[in-house]
Amino acid sequence: MEDDILRLAESMQCQELHMVLDEPTGLRAIIAIHNTVLGPALGGCRFLEYPSTYVAVQDAIRLARGMTYKAAISNLPLGGGKAVLLKPKRMLDRVEYFRAFGRFLNTLNGRYITAVDSGTSTADMDAIALETQHVTNTTTHKLFSLADPSPLTAEGVVCGMRAAVKFKLKKDNLKGVRVLVQGLGHVGFSLVEQLTALGAQLTVFDINPTAMSRAHVQFGAVLVNSLEELLETEADVFAPCALGAILNDHNIPKLRVPIVAGAANNQLLENRHGEMLAGAGILYAPDYVINAGGLIYVADQYAHTTEAESREKVHAIYDTMMEIFRRSEKEKKSTNSIADAIVLEKLKQ
Ligand code: NAD
Repeated sequence: MEDDILRLAESMQCQELHMVLDEPTGLRAIIAIHNTVLGPALGGCRFLEYPSTYVAVQDAIRLARGMTYKAAISNLPLGGGKAVLLKPKRMLDRVEYFRAFGRFLNTLNGRYITAVDSGTSTADMDAIALETQHVTNTTTHKLFSLADPSPLTAEGVVCGMRAAVKFKLKKDNLKGVRVLVQGLGHVGFSLVEQLTALGAQLTVFDINPTAMSRAHVQFGAVLVNSLEELLETEADVFAPCALGAILNDHNIPKLRVPIVAGAANNQLLENRHGEMLAGAGILYAPDYVINAGGLIYVADQYAHTTEAESREKVHAIYDTMMEIFRRSEKEKKSTNSIADAIVLEKLKQ
């Protein structure tokens, strides 16, 4: 049945589903703990409006599974989880609301650790931390010089892109490499900055004209007028850094690049689009491998690791990506299916 949430959880191998209702604060939360084989489940908490509880549960499970895969491929001692907080029409007291959520986290005995996600902030994490230690991303987690993980995510994307360029184009650096960037937000803008410093040639598109002119003025990026135009530009790399599902039946045939390597989550509309890219001779850097810098940052904040150690893990994205490319070539399978296979091997331990 379409609205059978337990069947949905089973079909996505989700270990635990928790729901909490707290009338005084209006808290209505769903926590999906997808997998804890490698360690406690870490994943952000979303605070958004949802059309139905089923859609919210579906979102929580899907995102939790993504966290399991991202943590495993990044060799973090963590599993995957996610919380979805159904935003009430009217919020009575935000601090009390998040404190109630924190009290609930205590009942899970550390099997789920929460963090910032869409709709939540470090101040919300501070409220949660008044009740529980199973939270990161608070304003007191100040181990890092970066207030926002996005530059580290972009640094990881650069590492993955370097591996793809080496593997596909046999080039040791990004000097003169032509990169198309879609999306100049937190990650995309930092990516443009880092790639410019490495001598790459940038062509960019964002629906926000202010971001476009900043990229042009600060880094000399070439601007195009539409996503269509960007997709049809001949270049070496396409870096999707905006929304998901950008790689689909409609867009893949338009691409005139040998490599796709960018930060966006869930870039493939369906898994089969990984095979479609491979069939078109395009090397795809799997999204959850290349964009793990943000998770590594959050995990290391929680573990009180040093910034240098955290950077080292981000730089290891280069080696992981190389391993995936080599296996994909040897086994004649798409890069995304190889990444999934590596994760499943790790989860069997
Ligand atoms: P953001 O919201 O800061 O930036 C997104 C940018 O994309 C915005 O500038 C927006 O105007 C632009 N955009 C939206 N639709 C577009 C379209 N159709 N064409 C062109 N541009 C469009 O988000 P972000 O934090 O930079 O994240 C970007 C992507 O990377 C997201 O998919 C996110 O899930 C993923 N990601 C981010 C991090 C991180 O550390 N921030 C970590 C892992 C993955």
